[in-house]
Parts: sequence; C-alpha cells; structure tokens
Amino acid sequence: MLTKVIEQAKIDHFSKWFVRADKVVIVSHVSPDGDAIGSSLGLYHFLESQGKTAHVIVPNAFPDFLRWMPGSKDILLYDRYKDFADKLIAEADVICCLDFNTLKRIDAMEDAVAASPARKILIDHHLYPDDFCRITMSYPVISSTSELVFRLICRMGYFGDITKEGAECIYTGMMTDTGGFTYNSNNREIYFIIGELLSKGIDKDDIYRKVYNTYSESRLRLMGYVLSNMRVYSDCNAALITLTKEEQGKFAYVKGDSEGFVNIPLSIKNVCFSCFLREDTEKPIIKISLRSVGKFPCNELAAEFFNGGGHLNASGGEFFGTMDEAKAVFEQALAKYKPLLTANG
Ligand code: 5GP
Ligand code: MN
Repeated sequence: MLTKVIEQAKIDHFSKWFVRADKVVIVSHVSPDGDAIGSSLGLYHFLESQGKTAHVIVPNAFPDFLRWMPGSKDILLYDRYKDFADKLIAEADVICCLDFNTLKRIDAMEDAVAASPARKILIDHHLYPDDFCRITMSYPVISSTSELVFRLICRMGYFGDITKEGAECIYTGMMTDTGGFTYNSNNREIYFIIGELLSKGIDKDDIYRKVYNTYSESRLRLMGYVLSNMRVYSDCNAALITLTKEEQGKFAYVKGDSEGFVNIPLSIKNVCFSCFLREDTEKPIIKISLRSVGKFPCNELAAEFFNGGGHLNASGGEFFGTMDEAKAVFEQALAKYKPLLTANG
C-alpha cells in the first residue's frame, strides 16, 4: 500500500475536471530529461486510454536515448511547430504542467501557456513552486514527477488502466531522476511502485540498457577527454569539468552527449561536490550543472553564483560570460562554501 502523498481534496478537484475535459495538453520543461518525457508520456498514455485527446508539447528537442519511448514520436516540439502548438494550448480544456515549478522553465512557451483560458494543474517535485496553476500538486520529497503521475492515476482509481507502454514511461522517469536508483531513492514505496509497474509487463533491465547503454563511440571518447582535463580541488572535496564549443566540435558533439558527465567526479573518494561548465550550442551562455552527495546544498550555490536553482543534490544555472570567467566564479563560490564542503566530505 502507498501513503497518500497527494491531498484528497486535490485528487477530487482534478477528478472533476477530468470527467469533463476532452482536450488536454501536457507541457514540460526546456531541454526535457527522462523525468520530463517519462511523466508526460505516462500521463499521455493514461489520458488516451480514457478517450481523451491529449498532446505533449515541450519547448525543444529531447535526447536520443529517450526516443525509443512509446508515444515519443507524437511529442510536439514548440520550437518547430509553434503555430500548431499555440492553437492546441489556446484551445485546451486542461493544461497539465509537469516537472517544472515556474513558467520561466518552459521558455518560449511561457506566454502561450500563461494566456490560455484552460484550467491548469501543476504536478511537480521541485522546491518553491510559483502560483500559476489552479491545482498545485508539488511534493519535493518525491524523487520524480513520474512517480507522482503514477500516484495520481492510482488515487483516481485507474491503476487497472495503466498500460505496459504507460508503465514503461513512468519507470523511465523514476529511474533517470534517481540515477538508476542510486540517489534520492531510499523511500521504500519506490520499490512497491516498481513492483506494480513490473506487473504491467515492463522489462526494467531492457529499459536501463536502452537509456544508459546506447551511446555513440564519439560520446565515450568525449567523456575520456573531458575527464582527462578534470580539476580536483582536494581541499574542498570538489571537482570541476568543462567543455568548450571548440572541444565539442572536435568530438562531433550532439545535444545530450554530455548527459551524466557531471556525476562522474562524485565517484572519486571524498569528492562530494561536482561542477560541469559547458558552452551552450544555442545560446551565448555557459550552462552550469552541479551535483552533490550528502547535505551540501548545490541549489543554494547555483542560486547565489549562477542565477539558477534546483534540488539539494542536483542543480544548475546559467552564466553570461566566457569559460574562464565562469571558472573564476566557480572558484569564488568554492572559497565561500569551503567550510561547508569540508564539513560534508
Ligand atoms: P541539469 O544539471 O541536469 O541540467 O539540471 C539539474 C537540475 O537543476 C534540474 O532538474 C533543475 O531542477 C535545475 N536546473 C538546471 N538548470 C537550471 C537553471 O538554469 N535554473 C534553475 N532555476 N534551475 C536549473
Ligand atoms: Mn524531475
């Protein structure tokens, strides 16, 4: 049995909308990850099974290793099909906002979603959600939005209608947001849910292989190169890896190739904080990814130094300037947080 994480009044409220809604739009954040796509498609498959007309719309492309997911071919990319997507958003009965806590995270879609007269519901697990939806289901203690989608469907009384395809999507989001159940994954109910998803016929080992073991040769070589230039700050229990646009060019870089790199330095003994600085291919910025283990709040550091935010152990931000300037800011941040980093290591 699962704990009732989502308040009953919110389940009842959404159930009322659900009965009457025909056209449902699901939106998720820019540069969608496994949980953004997994939760969106998990909900999409459920809505389709109930005879609703559902569309998943995301701001831009998602990584290749998620393309196998059932329903992924039907996802609309806003940066390619803006006019059609704007029409769907404007005419929707209900808009489900998944895996983000502020409209800024859906980039160019922000205005269209804000202006739509549709009823809006937020289903998310990021801290401090903005108040932009009539129903806000925000539970930062839950490790993925996909898990919340599973909980919502079950609480509405439709566990029996979850298909194998829907279960595969939900499992993928739960798996990717916990690094294959290696962090934020001590809640035993996660494993109860996995048992339920397995009862739908999913092959969890095959999903793992499709997500984590289908990279290109050039990505593996890029990883070797990036790690060979890694800088370890032993006195701060921290490590830094970087990737410039020029270096990306040498390794036939495609979007998503550096996914997961930021976690690797955490496998060094005593390193409890890792930073990855990458020159963006689309915008003139340095994209920052931060990861920590234990209590070190990398979201606070991201907010203070990199105009960003996120979770305690996984956060990010953006920097307007050169790679050298970003490195200098990172080292300033290290100096400031050194007492906390050494206490945590
Ligand atoms: P990643 O390193 O995988 O890009 O991001 C990890 C987490 O950090 C995301 O799930 C998100 O919560 C947060 N994050 C990443 N980039 C940004 C950003 O630019 N601004 C904010 N507020 N959060 C971010
Ligand atoms: Mn998530």
